[in-house]
Amino acid sequence: MNKIHTFTGNNLNRGDSIRYDEKKLDKLLQSIKAKFLPFYELNPLIEYTETPKLGWLSNTEFSDMKEFKIITKPIFLGFDENESPNFAFSINKKIDLKKKLKRNLVHIDSREIATEISQHETGILAQAKSNIEWNKKNKFCSSCSNELKSFRGGIMKKCLKCSMEHFPRTDPVVIMLVYKDEKCVLGQTRIRQRNGFYSCLAGFMDQGESIEEAVRREVQEESGLDVGKIQYHSSQPWPFPSSLMIGCHAEAINEKIIIDKNEMTDVKWFPKEEVILALKNKSKILNIPGTVAIAHHLIKAWAHN
Ligand SMILES: [Zn+2]
Repeated sequence: MNKIHTFTGNNLNRGDSIRYDEKKLDKLLQSIKAKFLPFYELNPLIEYTETPKLGWLSNTEFSDMKEFKIITKPIFLGFDENESPNFAFSINKKIDLKKKLKRNLVHIDSREIATEISQHETGILAQAKSNIEWNKKNKFCSSCSNELKSFRGGIMKKCLKCSMEHFPRTDPVVIMLVYKDEKCVLGQTRIRQRNGFYSCLAGFMDQGESIEEAVRREVQEESGLDVGKIQYHSSQPWPFPSSLMIGCHAEAINEKIIIDKNEMTDVKWFPKEEVILALKNKSKILNIPGTVAIAHHLIKAWAHN
């Protein structure tokens, strides 16, 4: 079931054991089989051939770039099916790689390109983008402010002053389709006020909270509804910057909606027939998220039972 989601399907072996050997990691960087994926402002390099794909650079192409002195130390993503070590790095200044490497290469927005590249490459993209962003934004120890040093290929940083270890964060978000009989609840948030655009209710999990408790609390806060049965559906990594969307179906036990005006501009019931039209892009009053988002699949799974 999980395979359906964009940003899942990463087939790299993340090579956990080798990450503890810094010398071996350095050797992998020199390997002739190594592949490198550059990001500029968190946008991956994409190569346009017949279909778009991630714009991997060979070790020679990567070495040539070092002369520009504008690249960060590559992070290790893992080994692909040919045992080639895969790395990602970020470029601090834009270079015309198309011209320089004579390949059809261009940096594209992650979300925009995610629906066009292969399933497993969307998974690699999610891993690389989230990790690069975490490395960029976490340069100093949150306990003593000393500068951090990177280990294990970019998945751990350590403060050499107070010895605290820092790990990349993943923020769990519950996202749920609330339904009752032949209708469901969809909402419009303040940040996404496009005409007729509605989606599932969602929110960050609090500390000390189970998934079910977070679903009940978020639904109550955003819509005033109480929830009975909760069923887990599937999950999706969402690398903006590093969320994990936990998708559920939740059955409402009452119907009167009280909107949380701080967060939502509208929350309302939609009949199943309207939702089915919206899934086919044929509704005049309702627009729902596209297939890139787990919300689409939660809505679809309910509408088609
Ligand atoms: Zn420290």
